[in-house]
Amino acid sequence: MFIDKVRLTLTAGRGGNGVIAWRREKYVPKGGPCGGDGGKGGSIFLATDPQVVSLEHLRNRRLITAENGQPGGYNHRTGKNGQDLTLKLPSGTVVKDAATGEVLYDFVEERSEQICQGGIGGKGNDRFKSPTHQAPYICTEGEAGEAREIELELKLIADIGLIGMPNAGKSSLMSRITYLEVKIGAYPFTTLFPNLSYLRTSKTLVADIPGIIEGAHKDRGLGFEFLRHIERSAALIYVIDISGFEERDPLDDFRVLQNELKAYKSELLDKPYLIVLNKIDIEGADEHVERFRKEVPGPIFPVSVLENQGIKPLMEAIENLKIIGAKL
Ligand code: GDP
Ligand code: MG
Repeated sequence: MFIDKVRLTLTAGRGGNGVIAWRREKYVPKGGPCGGDGGKGGSIFLATDPQVVSLEHLRNRRLITAENGQPGGYNHRTGKNGQDLTLKLPSGTVVKDAATGEVLYDFVEERSEQICQGGIGGKGNDRFKSPTHQAPYICTEGEAGEAREIELELKLIADIGLIGMPNAGKSSLMSRITYLEVKIGAYPFTTLFPNLSYLRTSKTLVADIPGIIEGAHKDRGLGFEFLRHIERSAALIYVIDISGFEERDPLDDFRVLQNELKAYKSELLDKPYLIVLNKIDIEGADEHVERFRKEVPGPIFPVSVLENQGIKPLMEAIENLKIIGAKL
């Protein structure tokens, strides 16, 4: 399963406490203060790592804490600093403040950012010594580390995004053309997460975007969630059920899809695309294919995923589509 959103509670390390201590040396009857400062708490950093491709490794780590600083010691010794912690992220991760939704960082290229600062250490009593105050009985506590609740959101950077109505055959097509084995079901929203996989013939990353229905851009039926995923893909494939089953009009389906994309972000319609008309094995599909071709200009591929018809030319076209997409 592809995880693309993770919420984390981060707490940087607490600063170590300052201490009260006195010099106890032979022949020095009244040794002065010598309590050291506490060490600094560990900070938390976020950094992109090209080896990391998902947020999977952070899924079961809801609470993340950096090491605390150690307390100060005798003889002015400063406590050890807490170790800093770096969370590795795939590039393409957007970091938001979970409380306000504000975007803190967009890790598009390689970078590293401090997200939570470690607390500073407390002061030992040595620090409070003054001409009028030779034996200060004071020290301060280390400060708490910065705490923050964040949401990580990974936008898929697939080369190609499949979009279609529920049941158009996207998942079936995925398992036919990529290495992904996906659940296929004859009901809407079989796929709750976008599935990503490489085309069987090349390193073209294809994302199966779960069913878009009318009103998706207004966040109906999880649609908005999914539209997000195709924002950065280079090209789109519309998957249309051409069977006309249950009185559906494939042309309507196509228009609804385009309208949803347009309403979400009209630039999506400028991406290179091709149209797959699926389920030509079903009786009556031919007429719909004819009608579709008359009404819609553009690269159209009638196929039957079920019976493996028309798949080879489609795959070649997808390779080219990626190349066209990459040039844009
Ligand atoms: P998705 O919702 O777009 O992912 O669609 P699925 O891949 O889950 O398929 C929905 C239903 O359509 C399933 O029952 C599939 O078996 C069926 N289906 C997919 N492709 C074809 C096809 O080429 N011909 C026929 N007759 N049925 C198909
Ligand atoms: Mg599906």
